[in-house]
Amino acid sequence: MMCDGVRPKKSLGQNFLQDGNIARKIVRLLGIGPLDRVIEIGPGPGALTRHIAAENPARLILVEKDGHWAEERRAELGASSVEAFPPEGDARAVVCADALELPWEALNKPCKIIGNLPYNVASPLMWEIFSRALGLDRAVFMVQKEVGRRLCARPGTSAYGALTVWTQSFVLPKMEFIVPPGVFFPRPKVDSAVLSFVPLPAGPGDFSPLRLAALLHKVFSQRRKQLGTIFQAVPNRLELLINAGIDPRLRPENLAPEDFHSLTEVLL
Ligand code: SAM
Repeated sequence: MMCDGVRPKKSLGQNFLQDGNIARKIVRLLGIGPLDRVIEIGPGPGALTRHIAAENPARLILVEKDGHWAEERRAELGASSVEAFPPEGDARAVVCADALELPWEALNKPCKIIGNLPYNVASPLMWEIFSRALGLDRAVFMVQKEVGRRLCARPGTSAYGALTVWTQSFVLPKMEFIVPPGVFFPRPKVDSAVLSFVPLPAGPGDFSPLRLAALLHKVFSQRRKQLGTIFQAVPNRLELLINAGIDPRLRPENLAPEDFHSLTEVLL
């Protein structure tokens, strides 16, 4: 089947939202004001874009990998087509690019980011954005419900993992509402979830993101093991863990994000 004469591309996670009320509800969560700079990832046929543009933010930047939809949205908005990211000066701009490849750290002025994210890149994309987009003011993303549960998970649950700790180290996620498969074309197999995110204030307990990423990779690839076993190659590991207030018999899924931050200081 087609959408606007164009076959949706599975390789780009193209499940297009067909329900205007849900689109409006998602955009409302971003709380767009007249001075805001808004970035939409993956506008596709424009279900969210229309409602964002209706709020008339000072700047609207669309990032779309599919050249067909990038050009259609550019024409509809009367926007410039630019290569640089973030674009400077244009009130309406379309960047036809892979969002995973963008220099998110260059986004250092206040901005709000929104997207019905392609399911195949949602997790790595959020991983990059939360840790690197320093100007992030607020984000609203639609993702697969399972991914949404992982983002909001509490320690001690099966959904708690590296993506949870990483996300909750930078932003406070909130599950807003669930969206059923029937409102998309083509229809996905699973429910989706809409979440909002606000950055955490960076405090004195700052940690090194590089060290945290290495630590999470190491411990969650052995999530069934006790910490004392995972770090058996580290001299004095039991003493170091106990001094950091962490029981060596715990497993990675039992530690809070702050515990991982302390561990980056003592164990890597
Ligand atoms: N916003 C539209 C909606 O809600 O109906 C489309 C959402 S669809 C789930 C995901 C969109 O992201 C598609 O338009 C797809 O082409 C685009 N996309 C996929 N991978 C991308 C990437 N790596 N970078 C930028 N856009 C991408």
